[in-house]
Amino acid sequence: MARNNPLSLGRDLAIDLGTANTLIYVRGQGIVLDEPSVVAINANDGRPVAVGLEAKRMIGRTPNHIKAIRPLKDGVIADFEVCEKMLRYFIQKVHASKWSKPRMVICVPSGITGVEQRAVQDAAEYATSEKVFIIEEPMAAAIGAGMPVHEPSGNMIVDIGGGTTEVAVISLGGIVTAQSVRVAGDELDEAVLQYIKKEFSLAIGERTAEEIKIQMGSAWPMEQEITADIRGRDLISGLPRTLQVTTEHIREALAEPISAIIDAVKTTLDKTPPELAADIMQDGIMLTGGGALLGGLDERLSHETGMPIRVADEPLYSVVIGSGRALENIDAMRGLMSLGGER
Ligand code: ADP
Ligand code: MG
Repeated sequence: MARNNPLSLGRDLAIDLGTANTLIYVRGQGIVLDEPSVVAINANDGRPVAVGLEAKRMIGRTPNHIKAIRPLKDGVIADFEVCEKMLRYFIQKVHASKWSKPRMVICVPSGITGVEQRAVQDAAEYATSEKVFIIEEPMAAAIGAGMPVHEPSGNMIVDIGGGTTEVAVISLGGIVTAQSVRVAGDELDEAVLQYIKKEFSLAIGERTAEEIKIQMGSAWPMEQEITADIRGRDLISGLPRTLQVTTEHIREALAEPISAIIDAVKTTLDKTPPELAADIMQDGIMLTGGGALLGGLDERLSHETGMPIRVADEPLYSVVIGSGRALENIDAMRGLMSLGGER
């Protein structure tokens, strides 16, 4: 009944519960929330002191009694209680009230277990008292990137997020073959941090490592190689120090995790049925997720696989847009989603 109430229109939600970022799409409005999946908790009483962007700013800067937690860090729900609090906070932030009984589509990392998925659904159902549909990440990403997932043709999608890289081949509205590896943006940050420590005896924080990766990381020689100053703490003197690094240094730092991502793409190609592989050869591989923005990753993948590579228009939004499209066409797309307890 509530569904026909004009007050409830525009309240149906699609949520991309990502390991790095959570995004919410409201039916008829578009993306209304885009925040890091981070919660700062006061260890004394277990209460959240900040959620989202504000909490991310605190990473590496908290006093002892505050902990900045990423509840989905490795593509699994590392801290369920915190994850639930975060999800509820975000849903309330977009003013979805229980009384409007919003319908909801949630996209979760495909590495999570059935029990964890059930728990996410419970948290969302608690916040809305309505049925919650779950859509698999590669499916949502492919729809959001504008791929013709219902056609009898091979659509290959590579979603490089914070905690996981998901590679999948989709045809006729179903996932034909898929792989999820726990090497993505976070591993790249960690590789930068370790490299700077080992090569230059300089300690930097995880947020600085991410900034360096975003500003100057690459997977293929750049047209313009640059040098930048980075600041950290000298491991020998213990004092703050400034260091000059080049894009070549950072490329070397990223080499290993990037190879792991490329291997995941190659293994999936290897398992793809020949007809679909021929389609991919023609239509190319679609890159999405924040990691798709890494400099030269497309050239590198094209060089290593011999396939044409495309980068989604707004890679950080593909999943939430795809989930939003599934929400807008819930009856037609019902087959692509699962309801509570189906998995
Ligand atoms: P998730 O879906 O797991 O939440 P996202 O798709 O939101 O992840 O991507 C987040 C990751 O993308 C982070 O590791 C972030 O550092 C990385 N990222 C964002 N922008 C860039 C960029 N320009 N170059 C390289 N990596 C980027
Ligand atoms: Mg994602």
